[in-house]
Amino acid sequence: MKKYLVFPLLAVLSVLVFSGCADAEQSSSEQTKDDTSTKQEQEKPEEVKAEKEAEQEKREAAKQEEEQQEPQYKISEVSSIVPIDNAEEQVALLTFDDAPDKHALEIANSLKEQNAPAIFFVNGHFLTTDEEKETLKKIYDMGFAIGNHTYSHANLNDLTQEETKEEILKVNELVEEITGEKPAFFRAPFGENTDYSRQLAEEEGMAVMNWTYGYDWESQYQDKDALAEIMVNTELLGNGANLLMHDREWTAAAVPEIVEGLRDKGFTLVNPDAIERPS
Ligand SMILES: [Zn+2]
Repeated sequence: MKKYLVFPLLAVLSVLVFSGCADAEQSSSEQTKDDTSTKQEQEKPEEVKAEKEAEQEKREAAKQEEEQQEPQYKISEVSSIVPIDNAEEQVALLTFDDAPDKHALEIANSLKEQNAPAIFFVNGHFLTTDEEKETLKKIYDMGFAIGNHTYSHANLNDLTQEETKEEILKVNELVEEITGEKPAFFRAPFGENTDYSRQLAEEEGMAVMNWTYGYDWESQYQDKDALAEIMVNTELLGNGANLLMHDREWTAAAVPEIVEGLRDKGFTLVNPDAIERPS
C-alpha cells in the first residue's frame, strides 16, 4: 500500500521541481532578452555611432576651418615678418629662446597680463622633469606658441644628419606629449641651420626663422633698464621686426616695458598663429 503511494508522490514532486526549474530558466532567459532590448532602446548602437561620427565631423570641420584661415604674414629671407595681403605692416614679433628655464613662466605671465602674444622656443634638455613639463603646459595653455629650439642646443653644423634628426624630432615628440600639439616653428641654436635641418623642419610642418635683432646676451644689456631701452629704441626696430630674447632674469624684468614701448611706438605685436607655415 505504501509503495503505491510513494511512486505517484515522487512523480508529482519531480514534475513540480522540473517545471519549476524550467520556469526559472525561462524567466531568466526572458530577463536576459529584456535586458538586451532595454539596452538597445537606451543606446541604439547605430544611432550612437552616427551621433559620434557627426560630432567628430563637426570637430574636424571646425579644425579645418581654423587651419584654412588664410595666414596673414610670412617670414622673409631675413626672418622679418611680412604681410601677405593687406595685413598691418607695422608689426613686431616677440620670441623667447632657451625656454623653459628659470624665467619663462614669469615672462609668460607678464605677457599675458599685457595681452601680448609671443613664441617660446624650447629645448628638450629643459623638459626632463615633471616641473619643467608642467611649466611648458602652463605656457601653452596661456595661448603662447611653442617653437622647437632643438634638444641640447648644439650647433647643427657639428652634427650628422642622424644626430640632427634626433635633436629636432625628440623635441617635437616631447612637446606634443606635453601639450598635445607639435611645435609650429623652428629656430636653430645660434641661428645655424643646415640644408638638412631646414628641410626636416619644413617636413615637420614648422616655419623656420632666425631673428632680426636681440641684445639680452650682451654684457652691457644684462640689465632691466638697459635692455628695455635698447629693445625699443634701437635703429634696428622696423616693420616686421623679429625680436630675439631669452629666458633670463633681466629679460623677464624688462618685458613689460618692452611691450609698452613697442606699442607706444605704434607697433602691433604679431600673433604667431597668423604666420604662414609649410603645409
Ligand atoms: Zn638658443
